[in-house]
Amino acid sequence: MVTGMVTLDDIHAARDRIAGMVRETPVKPAPGLSRLAGGPVWLKCEHRQETGAFKLRGAANAVARLGDVAGVTTASTGNHGRALAHAARAQGLAAVICVSRLVPQNKLDAIAALGAEARVIGASQDEAFEEARRLQREEGFALIPPFDHADVIAGQGTLGLEILRQVPDAAAIAVPLSGGGLLAGVALAAKSLNPAIRIIGISMERGAAMAASLKAGRPVEVEERQTLADSLGGGIGMRNRLTYPMVRELMDDLILLTEEEIAAGIRHLAQQDGETVEGAAAVGAGAILAGKLRADGPLVLILSGANIDPARHAAILRGQT
Ligand SMILES: *Cc1c(COP(=O)(O)O)cnc(C)c1O
Repeated sequence: MVTGMVTLDDIHAARDRIAGMVRETPVKPAPGLSRLAGGPVWLKCEHRQETGAFKLRGAANAVARLGDVAGVTTASTGNHGRALAHAARAQGLAAVICVSRLVPQNKLDAIAALGAEARVIGASQDEAFEEARRLQREEGFALIPPFDHADVIAGQGTLGLEILRQVPDAAAIAVPLSGGGLLAGVALAAKSLNPAIRIIGISMERGAAMAASLKAGRPVEVEERQTLADSLGGGIGMRNRLTYPMVRELMDDLILLTEEEIAAGIRHLAQQDGETVEGAAAVGAGAILAGKLRADGPLVLILSGANIDPARHAAILRGQT
């Protein structure tokens, strides 16, 4: 199948490599969403993964594949930065997470709590990224990007293997979509094992870079805007090599949600299913509630992360967005 640079074999190898470092997360039925969607809906509870998001799978696989390096680095302050810090510590490697002056103290503390150095540099994400590149160039660090990297994609693909084992008759998987590492890996695994399975990507209407790029026919930049699905923000990289072509080839449908629809998803998952998730992880539920996604056969929603500010979560449950 497709896309040459990542294969099902790579995903199987990643699964064996990271087995001791990641949890197998549970799936559970969602009765309320099933009624609304017209067919069985399953929740893949990956927000219960170590570090609170699936990103540990890709980071752990990439770190485990490294040869002799001085340490690892990246410029992500979100779930990828946490995952990389955790994976590096598990392998006894130094991790330097480069951040700009705009990043709030609580995020710096969270990185430090994972045993990594948060290096504050420059006034923008671009300048922070420059420092990560300098560490790679001059100090022997490995720069592990959040999605456009074969080992990261293969690691995220292990989630697809798990889903097909847990829900063997799955007809479709709804995948939160940003840079596309998650969707590319899950789709490659799932379609290799069952070519008929449908892969539905879901992003927010506000600033979805992959959606804009697919429409333009090449990677394009979009203006970054505040969104409840903050883990879905950011660009796909103007020199994207892997995830853009893989998503273009493997995704069957793309759904975009308003902020209200994402908030409704967060609320429903908390109140009806007892799951606390961040905005990015609530898009599948939000799409069903909005009437934008139906279940023609068993449908699996990936709850991709749990990292939401508790005060924010409480406000959303009270009906504020
Ligand atoms: C990173 C992330 C996504 C999107 O993953 P991509 O590989 O960038 O498409 C979705 N949900 C959560 C919680 C994330 O941290």
